[in-house]
Amino acid sequence: MAKKLISSVRGMNDILPEQTPIWQHVEAIIKKVLDSYGYQEIRLPILEATELFSRSIGEVTDIVEKEMFSFTDRNGDNLSLRPEGTAGCVRAGIQRGLFHNQIQRLWYIGQMFRHERPQQGRYRQFHQIGAEVYGLDGPDIDAEIILMTARFWQQLGLDSLELQINSLGSTEARIAYRQKLIDYFSDYQEQLDDDSQRRLRTNPLRILDSKNPQMLPLIKTAPQLLDCLDTESQEHFAQLRELLDETGVKYQVNPCLVRGLDYYNRTVFEWITNDLGTQGTICAGGRYDSLVEQIGGKTIQAVGFALGLERLVLMLLQSELPKPNNAPDAYFIIAGNEQVTKQGLHLAELLRDALPNLRLLVNCGKSSFKSQFKRADKSGASLALILAEDELINQKITLKYLREKRPQVILEQSELINYLKNLD
Ligand code: ATP
Ligand code: MG
Repeated sequence: MAKKLISSVRGMNDILPEQTPIWQHVEAIIKKVLDSYGYQEIRLPILEATELFSRSIGEVTDIVEKEMFSFTDRNGDNLSLRPEGTAGCVRAGIQRGLFHNQIQRLWYIGQMFRHERPQQGRYRQFHQIGAEVYGLDGPDIDAEIILMTARFWQQLGLDSLELQINSLGSTEARIAYRQKLIDYFSDYQEQLDDDSQRRLRTNPLRILDSKNPQMLPLIKTAPQLLDCLDTESQEHFAQLRELLDETGVKYQVNPCLVRGLDYYNRTVFEWITNDLGTQGTICAGGRYDSLVEQIGGKTIQAVGFALGLERLVLMLLQSELPKPNNAPDAYFIIAGNEQVTKQGLHLAELLRDALPNLRLLVNCGKSSFKSQFKRADKSGASLALILAEDELINQKITLKYLREKRPQVILEQSELINYLKNLD
């Protein structure tokens, strides 16, 4: 009897070989920009103590309340798959002494897990690249982070992302604002959806983050946090805007931008697109000066962002931009007896020694000329190298262009490396 098929877990995707070239392309570009700004990679565990997330992200956030993959392991420890990267980064920084009189510019890449309803641009396993800077409190570093993200899109060729910024002020300013919001929304209780009713009791700022269009008119006329800012935060925000103006980055001040996580203060920002429906936030970040202390370290200023790779890849796929591919440059057809195979493999190694950038796919497994040509064609290679018994005897190699009308070429094997070097 056929065995029952085991499928992937809902909301967790395989990224198949035909998709990996675009992923590699995005990752390579972003890593290059991060590197050019002097950010260093940190690699962190996927599993952390559940308490790390409840203490940092906040007990009454969607993530901690209903989106985490949490379980008790064999020792009875409460663990969670990380829903985001910042908490783990702060944990590592404290535990490994990275914040000791040091400025750190760090970045990470990896899977995150949230138990959400899967749809385009929203999955239960997804990938983020994020960066975090520790030990700097000025608006200049906030600006640097934003400028760096702007450079990602520019390098990727994406021009439809819009930047929104806001300031959440100090903790005290937010507490005062929180009360104002409670007073305001309480007057409209009957108009609040279920989520907002719940948030009114637990985390009223999050009502502003609602994705329900019916809530928008009420949110629009709500008191604004920007009007309640403490003087220092006002100054910080004004300077950030000046820096962005100076460097020519376009932005919109969005007074309703509060972010889904609790730990932010002062600067918050999002890069948004209209191309992906309601999953329009590509990148989100801000300042979180109290988090290090909240997790058990000293007071260390911090600012960072995370971007969703699935959403970026979707944007690139939907765009008119040329799609990268990893097709081989040349397909090596080897047809004949054992001697031919031996010489073919040897020749392929010599080519790889001499031309490290050459993408060479060698036909392995005996098969007819015809089927090897079919494979060569399917591989996307532009050139076929052919070694058969004739070539073996005469120390030659035949070259056939697969995508252009050009006559086939027969070369001495000794000339092959030079010939390929001179191809564009
Ligand atoms: P959203 O409002 O779309 O739920 P969020 O505020 O929960 O996003 P963050 O926690 O700030 O998102 O994460 C940063 C980025 O990670 C998002 O802007 C998005 O690009 C991506 N992201 C978040 N959740 C998911 C998910 N479930 N699937 C795919 N990408 C995600
Ligand atoms: Mg979310």
